[in-house]
Amino acid sequence: MSQHVSSLGEDLNLYNIVSRQFDKAAAVLKMPEGLLQQIKVCNTVYMVQFPVKIGEKFEIFQAWRAEHSQHKKPVKGGIRYSETVTQEDVMALASLMTYKCAIVNVPFGGAKGGVRLNPRSYSRDQLEKITRRYTAELIAKNFIGPGIDVPAPDYGTGEREMAWIADTYDAFNPGEIDNLGCVTGKPVTQGGIRGRREATGRGIQFALKEVFRHEEDMKKVKLSPGLQGKTVIVQGLGNVGFHAALFLEEEEGCKIVGIAEFEGGVYDPKGLHVRDVFQHRKDKGSILNFPGAKNFKNSMQLLEEECDILVPAALENQITLENAKNLKCKVLAEGANGPTTPQAEDILLKKNVIIIPDIYLNAGGVTVSYFEWLKNLSHVRFGRMEKRREEQTMVNLVQTIEDSVGKKIPDTIKKKISKGPSEIDLVNSGLEETMIEAYQEIRHIMAERKNISDLRTAAYVDAIEKVATSYLELGVFP
Ligand code: NAD
Repeated sequence: MSQHVSSLGEDLNLYNIVSRQFDKAAAVLKMPEGLLQQIKVCNTVYMVQFPVKIGEKFEIFQAWRAEHSQHKKPVKGGIRYSETVTQEDVMALASLMTYKCAIVNVPFGGAKGGVRLNPRSYSRDQLEKITRRYTAELIAKNFIGPGIDVPAPDYGTGEREMAWIADTYDAFNPGEIDNLGCVTGKPVTQGGIRGRREATGRGIQFALKEVFRHEEDMKKVKLSPGLQGKTVIVQGLGNVGFHAALFLEEEEGCKIVGIAEFEGGVYDPKGLHVRDVFQHRKDKGSILNFPGAKNFKNSMQLLEEECDILVPAALENQITLENAKNLKCKVLAEGANGPTTPQAEDILLKKNVIIIPDIYLNAGGVTVSYFEWLKNLSHVRFGRMEKRREEQTMVNLVQTIEDSVGKKIPDTIKKKISKGPSEIDLVNSGLEETMIEAYQEIRHIMAERKNISDLRTAAYVDAIEKVATSYLELGVFP
C-alpha cells in the first residue's frame, strides 16, 4: 500500500524501508556478505493475472504470492486484498514474515499474498469466485499446500476467505488427509482454532505486559512498571486494534484515551470503553460523536495527543517525518506492519521513545496460526484427550489434602484449581509463553551487545542469526 514518496521527500516504499532496517542490523553482524544477501532477498515471486466473470463482464485481477525464504517449510503468511497492493509490498511483507517466525520460534519461512482489488466493491459471491480462482492459480503453480505454503488472513481478508481457500484446495486434492492444513485463520467450525481471531491483539497484550514488567527499562522512560493505569491511544479499530485495545482495557487496567479510525478519532482523558466505541461505530457508521468524547476530524492529529503507549494498528507509513517530532507517547507499540518509517524512528529514538517493533509485537497471529496448523495435522482439538483426566487428578489431589489436614477447601477455589485446560486455555498459554520468551531473547541481545541500542535492530539480529544457522547447518544445495 506504499505511496512512494511523502511531501517531505521521504521514501515510503515498504520494500526499501524493510531493506534499510535489515541493513542496519546486518551492519552490526560479522557474517559473510553472501549469506546476508541470501537471507535478505525474496526467493520466489509468482505474479498472475486471471479473469473472473463479474456480472456480464470479464474482469482481470492482478495477484501475487511471494515466498521470501524456504529455509524452513512450509512458508507462511497472510493474503491481502487491497486496491493499492503492489508486488514490492508483498515481497516486503513476506520478508517481515520470515523474521517474525524466526523471532517467535515458529518453524516456518515467510510468505505473503496479495490481490489488487477493493473488497468493498464486490459482492460476497463475486469475492468467493475471485478467491477460488486465486487459490486455483496458487495450486496450479504449487504455491499452496500444508507442507509447501500456508496462507492466512491479512488486511481485507478473514475467516470467510480462508474457508473458501480450504474448500477449493480440498476439491483439487480429493482424499488427501491433511488438506485442512493448507490455510489457517479458518472458522473454528471448519478446522480453525479457538483464539486465532483475537490472537494478534492477545499477543500485543502479552508482549506489553512483559515489556512493562522490567522496572529498569520503564525507569528510562519515566514510567512505573506494570500496565495498570497506563494511558493508550490506538489507531485502527479492526481485528488487531480492537482486540489489543479491549484486552488492555478490560484485563490490564489500561486507560484507552484515544481511538483513531480513518473517518476521524475520539478522545477522552477519563478513558473510553472499547466495546461501546466499537458498537457506536457499528450503529452510526462513524466513530465520531461518541458520547462524552472529543472529536478529531483529522484522525492523524489524535496520534499526537498525550499518552503512555501509542498502538498504530491500521496500515504502514503512519509515523513519518511529518508527525514523529510531535508524538508524545513514551512507548510506540507497532501493531500494524511497517507503521514507522526509518527517519521517523531516528527522531523517536533520539526522543528516548521505546519502539516495540512489528516483527516481534504482532507475531501473535502467526503463532496461533502455527497452533492451528498443528491441530489440523494431528486431527484432534487441543485439550480433548487430557482435560477430564487432569481435572480428575486435581480433584483427587484436593481430596487427599482435605483428608490429611482435616479441613475443607472452599468450593470456589476447588473449582478453579481443578479445572482442566480447554483449547482456548492452551492456545493462550502457548501464546503467552511464546511472546515472553521471544522478548527475553531480544532484550538479552540488546543488553549483551554494546553496538545495539534499539529493539528493532535487536529483533532483526535475532532473526538473521536464526535463519543463518539454518543455512550453515543444512548447507546450501547442491
Ligand atoms: P483490519 O482490516 O481488520 O483493520 C484495519 C483497521 O484500520 C480498519 O478498521 C480500518 O478502517 C482502519 N484504518 C484504515 N486506514 C486508517 C487510517 N488512515 N487511520 C485510522 N484507521 C484506519 O486489518 P487488521 O487485520 O487489523 O490489520 C491491521 C494491521 O495489522 C495491518 O498492517 C496488518 O498487516 C497487520 N497485522 C495483522 C495481523 C492479523 O492477524 N490480522 C497480524 C499481524 C499484523
